[in-house]
Amino acid sequence: MAKFAKNKPVRSKIFLKNAQKSMTIKNRNICGFCKEQNNERLYPVKDIFGDEYSIHKCFECNAYFLAPRPDEEKLKQAYDTSYYGENKEKFSSPGVERVLDRFRQGRARRLRRYISDVAKVLDVGCGNGRFLMYLSRLGHFHLYGTELEGKSAQRAAQVQQITLKTGMLEKDDFAQESFDAVTLFHVFEHLAEPAQMLEIIASIVKKDGIAVFSFPNIESYQSKWFKGKWLHLDPPRHLFFFGPDDFKALMKKHGFEAINEHYISTEQNPYGMVQSLLNLWCDKREVLFERLKGNKEYIKNYKGIKLFLQKLFFVFTFPLFIFTDIIAGIMKKGATVEIIFRKQNC
Ligand SMILES: [Zn+2]
Repeated sequence: MAKFAKNKPVRSKIFLKNAQKSMTIKNRNICGFCKEQNNERLYPVKDIFGDEYSIHKCFECNAYFLAPRPDEEKLKQAYDTSYYGENKEKFSSPGVERVLDRFRQGRARRLRRYISDVAKVLDVGCGNGRFLMYLSRLGHFHLYGTELEGKSAQRAAQVQQITLKTGMLEKDDFAQESFDAVTLFHVFEHLAEPAQMLEIIASIVKKDGIAVFSFPNIESYQSKWFKGKWLHLDPPRHLFFFGPDDFKALMKKHGFEAINEHYISTEQNPYGMVQSLLNLWCDKREVLFERLKGNKEYIKNYKGIKLFLQKLFFVFTFPLFIFTDIIAGIMKKGATVEIIFRKQNC
């Protein structure tokens, strides 16, 4: 509404209040986090299947969310093959997986600074389990992972150092205050019941224990520039988003204090810039990204020359966007954020 008010200075506050009220009544889209209906529509977004959604902002809990909420069939389609990759690994190029392994090692080393040599660690949505595998090399940890049934879980099941639960983390899976650290790397925004997940995490982390969350920064420069074309909206898989300060305030209510935050990510952010620009200029979104994941079906009618030009653009601009990500990160406007929390001892 603030934006609307700015554009229409002649309209009175009463008018705006009424407009907001009537919009809220008409707008039956329910917030993905708090389940309230008091929100505004910000901008449209189309997924790779051609389905149309909007990003809304909730006036109650400050979450941004995808509306209407995709039904189970649409989510199943979205997660089916192209999300986890068609091959042995998520990305068809072994080079990409090797680079991702370097980032997984970096995450493991960062967490290691906050935990003891015998810590008990849970990675929620552990993917192929390789982050935990690298962590296992840095101490004598007890490592647990959860991953939904599918190709990633099958890959994680091969990692011997992990006790894996296939499926969603449930309330009674683990004892209260039993973990020294719980991590969710780019998982939170996918959850159907995120508020419940926070309750569970708050209960299973020990006092003085660590919780690590990383997610797209909806208040980043990229998000503001690209709106519905932004790569990290990833419709229809990302259901909701929080600005970093709102998320920290939410975690505070659960007894967690933010002790560190990173806004620079060479893994996530420069590619976000490349793909979002391509999404802006090209008629079809995420062509190059889907190609990297081996989704041949999505690109089967796409002209080879256009794909080649996109690859060329990627190769030549990526170094530049590593540099611009550092600047955005310093301003706390990086496209993704990782926040490390410590549970208060009281
Ligand atoms: Zn809400």
